[in-house]
Formats: sequence, structure tokens, C-alpha cells
Amino acid sequence: MELGQNEQSSGENSRSGTMPAASLTLLRTGEASQTVGEAQALFGHSVAGLAAIAESLGEKPYRGRQLADALYRQRQNDWAVMSTLPLSFRERLKQAGWTPGRPEIVESFRSVDGTERYLIRTGEHTVETVWMPDGDGAAEVDEPETQSERASALDTASRQEWKRATICVSSQVGCAVNCQFCLTAKLGLQRNLTAGEIAGQVVAVLDRHAVEINRNRINLVFMGMGEPFLNYDHFMAAVRLLKDEVGIATQRMTVSTSGIVPAIRRFAAEPERPRLAISLNAPNDAVRESVMPINRKWPIRELIESLCAIPFKPREKLTFEYVLLDGVTNRREDARELAALVRHSGLPAMVNLIAWNPGPGIAHSSPSQDSVLAFQQELLSAGIQTYIRRPRGRDIYAACGQLKRTTETGTAKSGTARPRGGAEEQAQ
Ligand code: SAH
Ligand code: SF4
Repeated sequence: MELGQNEQSSGENSRSGTMPAASLTLLRTGEASQTVGEAQALFGHSVAGLAAIAESLGEKPYRGRQLADALYRQRQNDWAVMSTLPLSFRERLKQAGWTPGRPEIVESFRSVDGTERYLIRTGEHTVETVWMPDGDGAAEVDEPETQSERASALDTASRQEWKRATICVSSQVGCAVNCQFCLTAKLGLQRNLTAGEIAGQVVAVLDRHAVEINRNRINLVFMGMGEPFLNYDHFMAAVRLLKDEVGIATQRMTVSTSGIVPAIRRFAAEPERPRLAISLNAPNDAVRESVMPINRKWPIRELIESLCAIPFKPREKLTFEYVLLDGVTNRREDARELAALVRHSGLPAMVNLIAWNPGPGIAHSSPSQDSVLAFQQELLSAGIQTYIRRPRGRDIYAACGQLKRTTETGTAKSGTARPRGGAEEQAQ
């Protein structure tokens, strides 16, 4: 594949070798693991799951903790470097058909604005993940910086180009929801990702940037390919792994959903959960149905009711994402109707406006900058906290689903006009 002038691609090594097939039927970890060649991935199992695997090979359960530390904290993905584990144990794992099995970055694209986008291979598929230095791709996560983060930001400023970063993570290969403006929809749903495949994207990117999790400020947004709430159990298992084993607080995570009401109700009952963003994208059912067919199943009223059941924390805000499609969702009356909807919901909500990123084969138009500002003004004057997300990585096909789609269909060619799509960060 050729790339434009501001892009660098690095084909990175694929997994080498395969492991012998294993007889794993006796293992009862209760966790889905990813097949890597003929081997099974350890990455993605909880400590308890790893302990069960160790015990099945005649080891003491504490080996589970050691394995978890190696995989998730030290980010080791090769038997040779896992020196905290006895060689004989590593050999036995290998012979039983296990492999570390973290998903790997196979291609990377760097934007002039510092955004990096990766194709990450997992099994027979690739998914996309984005690194946005000094940027936030979602609702503002306004937790105060800790002292050590502040000190580290000063310290790292001299040796790193970034002080904090947001990672945008995929939850499925493709998506079944079929929103009319979205490129991922064009892929259809290929399959759900496992917890290890979701968390693995994060760990692979942390590793690439040598992130020190206790010193650097990392936010996660589950806004890549797919609908996380249609892969709820794997998504929440990934959240728990990322919190417990990788060390990222749930307040630093935001999940975005198109509005899968039964999953929102489950989410409301979670003892610990990320922040929530809802892709509202329209001010009423008629318009929403035309751009998001899922609205026929769960119309706005039902959606709002399910959100009202969430026990929001005192400073917590819900984000309504709103993609502005010229002539469809960005008219002045749409803004007024949206303002009334948000106000009457009584929810602690704010709005993120996103100018639509064009993509091949989608018959919509992007709004003018003036109309975006006018839309924001209308909401602000109704007293609604409203941000405009500014696009990131426009030169690297960074819109939702765009990289995978454009690379797989051969649209990403050097010397072509740059697409205007991009991952977004929030402009204050
Ligand atoms: N499936 C989830 C999360 C992934 S999409 C969801 O829909 O919420 C993340 C965000 O990108 C959503 O708010 C979606 O409305 C927005 N989006 C999708 N395609 C877009 C495009 N071409 N331009 C701008 N935003 C887009
Ligand atoms: Fe799926 Fe989200 Fe795209 Fe809709 S906007 S098709 S839910 S990824």
C-alpha cells in the first residue's frame, strides 16, 4: 500500500512460528481466549484464569499473578523475556499450546499533528486503534492531575513530545448497527473482539510509546470500530483487566454507544464503570431513524429513560455526541429541539458536536464551519455545555472505520487528495 507524503508506514513483524495444538478441553477458566495460529492466547485472562491455567499444569496458583504481571504490567509478549517465570514452566505452557498472544501492531500511520493510527492484527483480522497525544477524543475527562502526574508532565516534556494522551479502542471487527453516515457500518459485523483483543490494543500502544502508567496521564475512549454494548461482556471484562491489571482508572475511560437500551440498563448496575457517551446525532425520532436505524428498536424516549436510571457521581457528566450532517441534522431548529430535549431530560449532560467526516460511498455533506459555530451558539444560549470536537489525523484517514476501509479497498493512495476525515479531539 502506498501512503501520502505526510504519512509513515511501518510494517511491523508478524507473530513468528506457531505452537503445537493443545488439548485444552480440561481447562476450566471460564474465559474466552483468542486462537493464535494453533495456540491459545494467555493475554486476556484474568489473574484467576491464569492461576487456573498454571494449576492445570501442576504449578502453584501464585504463578497466575506472576503471569499477569508479565503480560499486563511489564507488557512482555515473548517467552524469552519472561524471566520472572521459571524456564520449565514456560516450556510446559508452550507445550500445552499456550502463547503470550497479545495483539500486535502490524502497520502504523503518523499524522502531521502527532496522531498515530495503527492496524492491529488479532487472529485473522485487523482492527484499528488510535493514539492521540495531548488530545482527548471524547467527553472531557476532567479529573484533576495528581502531583506525580504534574511533576512527570514537566519531567517528560523535555524527552517526549507528549504530556498526556488518549487511546481510541475498537470493540468489534466492523459493526452491525448500520448508521448511515459511518464507514465502519459498511464493513458489516465480522465478529466480536474478546476481552484480550480489546485490552491488548491498549497494551500494545502503551508499549509502543513506553508509557509509564503511574506517571503519564492516559485516557481511553471506546470509540473505535464497533458497538461496545453489543459485545457487552467482553467489553466489560476488558475494562476490568485494564483497571485491575494495567492500572488505568475507570474515570479515565469513556465508552460510546449508539443506544443499546438493555446494555445501558446493565451498565447502570455496574459497581465500577467508565464514563458514558451516547451517539444521539439527531434531535427527534424521525431524523434519528433516518440516520440511525437502531432508533426504531430503541427510540429516544426509551433511551433517555434508561439513562435516567444511571447513578451518576456528583461531578460526572454524560456526553451526548452529535454528528452534524449538512442539511440533515445541523439546522437552527435542530439545535433548538436538541436543546429542549437535553434540558427536559434532566440528565447531567453535555454535548459534543462533531462535524461529519466524509468517507467514500456515503452520500452526506460536511457542515460549514460557520454553521457548526451557530449550532453551538444556539445550545450555549440555552445553557447547555457544548463543545466542538476538532478533527485529528485528517491526513491518515482517521475517521471511525476509515483507515481499515480505505486500506482494504485501496482508496489510500499516495498523491490522492487528502480525505477530510479525522479522529476528533474536543476543542474547549
Ligand atoms: N458504536 C459506537 C462507538 C463507535 S462510533 C457509537 O456509535 O457510539 C464513535 C462515534 O463516531 C459516534 O459518536 C459516531 O456517531 C461517530 N461517527 C461515526 N462515523 C462518523 C463520521 N463519518 N464522522 C463523524 N463522526 C462519526
Ligand atoms: Fe456502529 Fe457506531 Fe458506526 Fe453506528 S456509528 S455503525 S454504532 S460504529
